[in-house]
Amino acid sequence: MERWIEEIDQYNATPGNGTTRQYLTDVEWEARMYLRGEMERIGLVVEMDCMGNLIGTLPGTEPELAPVWTGSHFDTVLHGGRFDGVAGVVAGMEALKLIADSGAAHRRNLACVAYAAEEPARFGIGCIGSRAMAGALSVQDLKTTRALDGPSLYDELRARELAADDIESCRKKPGDVFCAVELHIEQNSVLETSGVRLGVVKAICAALNFTVTVTGTAAHAGGMPMESRRDAFAAVSEMSLALERMTRENRMSEYCTGTIGFLQIEPNASNIIPGRVNFTVDIRDCDAASKNQLCDKVREEFAEIAARRGVALEMRLQNNDAPVSSHPALRTLLANCCEQRGISHCELISGPFHDSLFVGRFAPIGMLFVPSRDGLSHCPQEWTDCADMKVGAEVLADALLHAANLESLDQDGTDNHILSPMV
Ligand SMILES: [Zn+2]
Repeated sequence: MERWIEEIDQYNATPGNGTTRQYLTDVEWEARMYLRGEMERIGLVVEMDCMGNLIGTLPGTEPELAPVWTGSHFDTVLHGGRFDGVAGVVAGMEALKLIADSGAAHRRNLACVAYAAEEPARFGIGCIGSRAMAGALSVQDLKTTRALDGPSLYDELRARELAADDIESCRKKPGDVFCAVELHIEQNSVLETSGVRLGVVKAICAALNFTVTVTGTAAHAGGMPMESRRDAFAAVSEMSLALERMTRENRMSEYCTGTIGFLQIEPNASNIIPGRVNFTVDIRDCDAASKNQLCDKVREEFAEIAARRGVALEMRLQNNDAPVSSHPALRTLLANCCEQRGISHCELISGPFHDSLFVGRFAPIGMLFVPSRDGLSHCPQEWTDCADMKVGAEVLADALLHAANLESLDQDGTDNHILSPMV
């Protein structure tokens, strides 16, 4: 895995300044071909779908049964690290290699999926590969989604000879995949601080995004007295603190966040009262009802602040993806696999989203987190120790092998049944 991580990191548009590997750029395409070769080298049968997702299969004894999936993404943010995504791809490959080398029988096919474009870095939307699998992208979406550097997603796919018009061909229906378990770096420091080796994810938060415009009146910073102003930035400042308070005080869910990460002031001059501010609101929650309720409260309170300050408010909802919970049987399976190897583990909520968010729309999902040093990710300092990767891949292999011999995830609903494979 260490070698794979180092070699994939050579496919990097910004060597010396973090790792940049964006969807359908040359380095990303070369990384795909490298991964395909490595998957084949360890004995997997590899297919590439119309979005460039790679699916490397280790055939089971009953290949007609729905397969068990693992895997993660291999693209990165701008100037990111070498583990986010790639860790789950190489751990998936390693797990399948461990299973193949052990000669253990498995009824279901096992597949390691290298998902295309989980990061929204180039096209503005995340999880493009898994989103298409979930049927949440149309040909029209491909045509209207443009890269920050110009071309449409549709044109870029066709330039790589991917059948963009045939997007339905990569779609998965419920039942097509038995279950999917993704390993990913934690991107937080809960594991490191608590000294726990592996995290079993309970739920993955999903984002709700607004773009907001507040319009007041630009005027002379000295000429206009305080009581007569319609200062757009002062109103937004109040909105920002209100968002922080509402998010912190929300007791309805176990984990939620609210962030204003982009802000543009017009005219942005030291001696002019801001006349207009454009900003974004990012609300994430592991519970859909809580997220929608928080969103309603944010709308109400922003409207109240705007009315009181005499500024105009326009809020446009960009997207509202549904959070997903991992399947309880997979959580139990992962915890049991940790126990059997004497590996400490705990349950976690994932604040960032992952491909499993969309895979969860057509298959039961589970996720395993390995520690991130200092909780850092999306930066060149991103690091996960090899020893943790090894433990993660071994637990993943155990879980995949068990799942591949199960008749059903629910069975009779008792936990101890999960580790009694049907043979
Ligand atoms: Zn990731």
